[in-house]
Amino acid sequence: MVRFVSAAPKHVKEDHSLGCAEVKFTLKTRVQKISAHAPGRVELLGNHTDYNEGFVLSAAIDRGVTLTGGRAESNDIKLHSATMDSSAQSEINKLKPDKTDTWANYVFGVVDCLQRDGYKLGGFEADIESDLPLGAGLSSSAALEVATATFLKKLFGLKIEPLHLAKLCRKAENEFVGVNCGLLDQVSSTFGKKNHAIFLDCRKETVENVPFPGNVELLITHSGVKHALVGGEYNERREQCFEAAKRLGAVALRDVTSKQLNAARETLPDLVYRRAMHVVGENERVQHGLEFLLRGDAKAFGDLMFESHESSRVNFENSTPQLDALVAIAREEPGVLGSRLTGGGFGGATVSLIERDAAERISANFAQKYRERTKHECQTYLCEIADGAH
Ligand code: ADP
Ligand code: MG
Repeated sequence: MVRFVSAAPKHVKEDHSLGCAEVKFTLKTRVQKISAHAPGRVELLGNHTDYNEGFVLSAAIDRGVTLTGGRAESNDIKLHSATMDSSAQSEINKLKPDKTDTWANYVFGVVDCLQRDGYKLGGFEADIESDLPLGAGLSSSAALEVATATFLKKLFGLKIEPLHLAKLCRKAENEFVGVNCGLLDQVSSTFGKKNHAIFLDCRKETVENVPFPGNVELLITHSGVKHALVGGEYNERREQCFEAAKRLGAVALRDVTSKQLNAARETLPDLVYRRAMHVVGENERVQHGLEFLLRGDAKAFGDLMFESHESSRVNFENSTPQLDALVAIAREEPGVLGSRLTGGGFGGATVSLIERDAAERISANFAQKYRERTKHECQTYLCEIADGAH
């Protein structure tokens, strides 16, 4: 691995207009620099529905990853991540997963997938900055991929449809990085829209923006306990869902209603029934949530979020005592409309829908009560629903 970060040569002026404190590397010739930003995302409803070919409602948030840089004269890719305080380099025609600086694989993977899809690229240099926490379930990985693809789209004038861009980014994470994620993260980062939720049909792979009520914000609260989706629990849940669908004679749990599931309850082992009930219930909650959003009923939407968490706790058993404590605090706090675990579960974060006027007070109370009750520290992120990559 070539390390090329150095102080800027004397003849290079620092470009403070880019918001970079320091120039990490310089282009041999003066080239125009461009920036691309892609947001993180939060799942609002539709937990573990993706691999069951179901529905999800998510939102892009006002935190994300920004790439700033320009074309290089050579075929080299030179990256510096301020977040990781690390640099990485590769020739564009010799891309292979980097075993040392694994973070760079999210960028190299996108380059590789674009090239294999026929897009013509050249060497480039980019600085990466981010205000997203890593590994907190806000999908910094997808934000990095989508920011990379958007950066390259601008830099090389690529003609690429947003859904195709999101799919190539997912492919990069699946095949180059080696993480088996669904399409939600990349779709959310690409299709986010200020004050709108994103509705994804995971089977049809269609995306819609749905207006979100005003006067509310999202409070994302990380429990301080790491998510461990790579663990056996996640795969076990997948298998249980597939088993439920098979026993019910359905292609996927997407095709089962709660009425049908309850009619077949006696024929299913209790565990399989409860796993299925969570997913089937989540799909139905997404459908109801869509109606409530269209009516501008934030309170009814919030109630669905509380129901979703209860189902995670009882049926899917992907909650933790810490996540339960966060939701219990949410239930007591005036101005909180709804709250639930978000993402895979087994640790990680909750998302709460809160009244904007009370946001600061709620955020401070969460932190204090959580500390008192669990002896853990939580990180709170007060977020607006933001635009997707640009
Ligand atoms: P999440 O997507 O929930 O944040 P992941 O484990 O999927 O968690 O992705 C986090 C990884 O993505 C980091 O460990 C790092 O490799 C990469 N990454 C995310 N943001 C950046 C960044 N700004 N600079 C470099 N790498 C990043
Ligand atoms: Mg990720």
